[in-house]
Amino acid sequence: MIAVDMQGKAVPALGFGTWALNGSECERAIPMAIEVGYRHIDTAQTYENEAEVGRGWTAAGIARGELFITTKITRTGNAAAEVIAGVETSLNKLRTDYVDLLLIHWPTDAVPMAETLDAMGKLKSAGKIRALGVSNFTVGHMREAVERLGHRVACNQIEYHLLLKQQRVIDYARAHGIALTAYCPLARGKLMGHPVVERVAKKHGKTANQIGLRWLVQQAGVLAIPKTASLAHARENIGIFEFALDAEDLRALDALPANTRLVSPAWAPKWDAA
Ligand code: NAP
Repeated sequence: MIAVDMQGKAVPALGFGTWALNGSECERAIPMAIEVGYRHIDTAQTYENEAEVGRGWTAAGIARGELFITTKITRTGNAAAEVIAGVETSLNKLRTDYVDLLLIHWPTDAVPMAETLDAMGKLKSAGKIRALGVSNFTVGHMREAVERLGHRVACNQIEYHLLLKQQRVIDYARAHGIALTAYCPLARGKLMGHPVVERVAKKHGKTANQIGLRWLVQQAGVLAIPKTASLAHARENIGIFEFALDAEDLRALDALPANTRLVSPAWAPKWDAA
């Protein structure tokens, strides 16, 4: 497994996404993922599955210190008091006394960003979160966060996959030591059957989804968090560390049209050009 340095912490580059994993399916999926080797789990207050993640990881019988858990502040809970209370609830549900990474899920104009970041800073000082970061932040939002917090912004979690390249966001993040976590890393199924991706997959005896994940984790400072409820898919997705894409593959993959954005709800910011 490749690890990404996140402010001195080696974080497994492949994590386990949990959006749309709920109830008993989620509670089963977490120990399944841990069993096949995942040590990094991504959840969020809005996914309404933190309690299942908490029950799932504790059932797996590993030490808390072996696991990297990310959660995210609910979009409508960015005021300082809400951030503090929300994290207390998350910790109870997740059955832990700290999360490894807390993210602002979406930028908002409803609360000054500085208020949210300062509340997160207090949680960090209190040991309730180990690192803090952001999600769905444009270059402008990242700049504002960096101006407030300097080098303490650990990560920006963004939609990033072979069909959406996000070069401006990536360039800014890299220049400021901010790791990038790729969500929708499988483009929610759109890599399967894609002629160029399938051609590279055939060459390596891999699947199109494995090519998409390998393309991400092969980049400096990039993590990926595919979601699956299936044991076969969980194994397939983690089976990307014994091969590498070569220069010819990268030329073909980097040249794919890169403007397929899958997640853009009404509250999304005005995105940077791809
Ligand atoms: P994704 O990981 O790109 O795709 C998930 C879909 O692919 C599921 O339908 C899954 O179905 C299927 N799948 C997984 N592995 C497969 C395989 N090897 N072969 C065939 N199909 C496969 O999309 P996502 O779940 O939207 O994104 C991943 C994670 O990113 C989320 O779970 C969440 O943790 C995070 N996320 C964050 C944000 C944000 O705003 N920060 C937004 C979206 C997502 P099965 O379950 O049947 O395998």
